[in-house]
Amino acid sequence: LMVLTKKLIEVRNLLKTVNNNTNLQLPSIVVIGSQSSGKSSVLEAIVGHEFLPKGSNMVTRRPIELTLIHSEDSPDEYGEFPQLGLGKINDFKKIQKTLTDLNLAVPDSECVSSKPIELRIYSPNVPDLTLVDLPGYIQIHSRNQPPTLKQKISDLCDVYIKEPNIILAVCAADVDLANSEALRASRKADPYGNRTIGVLTKMDLIDPNEAVLKLKNPDFPLQLGYVGVVCKPGASNSGPGQALIRAEDAFFKSHPEFKNANASVGTPILRNRLMKVLEEHMGRGLYRIVDAVEKELDDARYQFKVHYNDRKISPESYVAEAMDSLKTRFKAFTKEFGKPQVRDQVRTMLEERIHDICEEVYWNDPRVAMLPKICADPVWATRLDLTFASLTKSGVGRASVQLVIDTLLENMEQMLTSDQFAHHPEARAQIMQFSNDILRSKLHTTVDQVENTIKPYKFEVECTEQEWQEGVKRATSLLETTLTKSESDLKSIKTTFGRRRLRTAIKQIQKVEREAAAAAAFNDDSHGGVIGGSGSIATASAAELGIESERDAKLFASAREALKLQKYVSTLQGRLGALRSRQCGVSANKSCCPEALLEVLADKLTYTAVMFIYVELLNEFFFQLPREVDNKLYYGLSRAQILKFANENPTVRKHLEVQERKATLELVMEKLRSLNRKH
Ligand code: GDP
Repeated sequence: LMVLTKKLIEVRNLLKTVNNNTNLQLPSIVVIGSQSSGKSSVLEAIVGHEFLPKGSNMVTRRPIELTLIHSEDSPDEYGEFPQLGLGKINDFKKIQKTLTDLNLAVPDSECVSSKPIELRIYSPNVPDLTLVDLPGYIQIHSRNQPPTLKQKISDLCDVYIKEPNIILAVCAADVDLANSEALRASRKADPYGNRTIGVLTKMDLIDPNEAVLKLKNPDFPLQLGYVGVVCKPGASNSGPGQALIRAEDAFFKSHPEFKNANASVGTPILRNRLMKVLEEHMGRGLYRIVDAVEKELDDARYQFKVHYNDRKISPESYVAEAMDSLKTRFKAFTKEFGKPQVRDQVRTMLEERIHDICEEVYWNDPRVAMLPKICADPVWATRLDLTFASLTKSGVGRASVQLVIDTLLENMEQMLTSDQFAHHPEARAQIMQFSNDILRSKLHTTVDQVENTIKPYKFEVECTEQEWQEGVKRATSLLETTLTKSESDLKSIKTTFGRRRLRTAIKQIQKVEREAAAAAAFNDDSHGGVIGGSGSIATASAAELGIESERDAKLFASAREALKLQKYVSTLQGRLGALRSRQCGVSANKSCCPEALLEVLADKLTYTAVMFIYVELLNEFFFQLPREVDNKLYYGLSRAQILKFANENPTVRKHLEVQERKATLELVMEKLRSLNRKH
C-alpha cells in the first residue's frame, strides 16, 4: 500500500517544478506547535537523527519542507538540499549546520521568512513522508524582535495548514491544552478535526493517569486522535533515533497505566499513523489530481502545438544554431569586407590629408600661379619634397591600420546587434573582446610592416603613364570639389549681404590695403609683397574702414572672407587649368603638377598599406575569430551557461518552458496511470 505515498511524493516533487497551481497540490504533513513544545524533538525522533537547528534565538525562521524517502535497497543515509545543489550530505551535523545557516540568514529585523527551505532525507530507516516544519508559535516577542512577529508566525502557519495538508499539532503534555496555540490554529482551519493529528509530548513530565486521561478524553476531540510521546534527548545521551525510541519504549513499559488503558503512545505508533493518514489522504486526492494533471497536460499540449507546431528544441541545439548562424554571417561579412572597400576608406583618409597639405602649401599662395613655368626652380622642388615627406611621415601606417580596425569593429558590433545576439549581451561582449584581442595582438606588427613598405616612397615615386593619368584625374576631381565648395561659400555671402553692398565694402578694404602696402613699401623697400597683402587685409582697423555699427562689422568681416575666397577660387581655377594643360598630361613633368603627384603617391600608399593590412591583420582575424568563438563559446560552455544562454532569448525560454512543462506533465501522468491501475 505504501507505494502510493512514495509515488505520489515523486509526483509532488515533479509538479513542484511545473507550477504552483493549488489544484495540483498533494497533501503534506504540517507540523505546528508553540516554542519549546518539543516539535523538533518529535521530528527528529521520526527521522531518527538530530538534524534541526537548536538554540534559544528563534532558530526556525523559514518553513523547512522535509521529504523523507524510504530507500529500501541502500543502507546509505543522507540528506540533499535540491535548491543548493550541494549533492549528498552524509553527515547529519552538516545538515544541521546548513539549516542553521539558512535560517539565520533571515535578518533579525524580519525574523521569519515565508521562503521555504527544501530538504530531502534518504534512508532505509525513514518512512515515505512529506513534512513541513514551521517556526514555533510564540507568546511574547523579545526586545530585539519585531512587534508583529507573533502575527507573522501565525500568518505563515495559516498558509500551510490549509487543505489538503494534514496538521500535526504538537502540544506539551505539561501545559494546559486550552492554551495550546497549535490546537487553536488547527481548529480554525479544520473545525471538525478531520485532518489533524494531536501529539502530546513530554509525557514523562506528568502523572501517567493524568496523561492517559489527556490522550483519551481530550478537551478538543480529533478524528485522527492523539498520540503521546517521550522524545527527551539526552535520555540516552541523545544518540541515534533507535536509542531514543528504546528509552521511550522503556518509559512506557515501566508505566502499565498506558498499556492498561490501551492508549496510543510512542514514536513508532506516531510514525505509522502519519504514514497511514498521509497515504489515505493522498489516495483520496488521487482522482482530483489525475483530473487536474490531465487538464494541465491538455493545455500544455495545445500550447506546444499551436505556438511551436510540436517542434522540439534543446538549449544545446539553440546554442549550436546561434553559433552556426553567427559563423555563416561572419563568413559573408568577410567576403563583403573586401579589398576595394578597404582601399576606398584608406584612400579617402589620405585624400583628406592631400587636400589639407595642398591648401596649406600651394593653394593659399597666389604665387602658385607661376608654377607651371618655373617648376624647375629649387624653391618649388624643396616644397615638393616637404609635401611628400609630410604625407609619408604623417603616420600613414598607424592611421590606416587603426581606420581598418575601427571600421571592422563597428561592422562587427552591427552584425552582432542585428539578430538573435541582441538577446545575448554577454556573449556579444565576449565576441567583441575576442575580436579586440586578436586585432590588438596584430596591431604593432602590421603598423611596422606598413611603415616599412612605404618608406621608399618618401624619396621618390615611379609611375607608369597610366598611373599618372589616373593621378591627374583624381587631382582634377579633388580640385573641382574644393572649387565648387568655395564658390558656393562665396555665393552664400553674396546673397546674405547683396552684391552691391558687398562690392562697396570690398572696394573700401582694397583701398585701405593698397594704402597700407604703399606705406610699407615706402618704409621698407626690400620686403612686403603679395603674401604680405593678405596680412594687411586682416589688419585694416575698424577706424580705417569707418566701421560704426555691429552690422557694419559683420559686413566687413564677410567682405574680407569674400575677398579671400575670390583669390582662392581664382588660384584653384588656375590650378585646374594647369592640370588640364598639356604640360601636366605627361608624367615627365610630374614635379610641375604636385596635386597629381600626391594623388599618385596616395594611390601607391593605399595599395601597399591595404595589401599588408590584409596579409598581417585581416586574414588572420578572419581565420582566428570563428575558431575562438568555437573554442570559448561553443565547446567551452558548461551546462549551466548553455541554459543561461538559451534562456536569455525570451522566445526560446518560453518554448523551452512549454516543452518542459509538457514533458514533466506527461511523466507525471504516466506515474499516476500506473498507480490508478494498481488501485
Ligand atoms: P521546540 O522548540 O518545539 O522545537 O522544542 P524542542 O524539541 O527543542 O524541545 C524543547 C525542550 O523540551 C528541549 O529542552 C527538549 O530537551 C525538551 N523535550 C522535548 N521533548 C521532551 C520530552 O518528551 N520529555 C522531556 N522531559 N523533555 C523534552
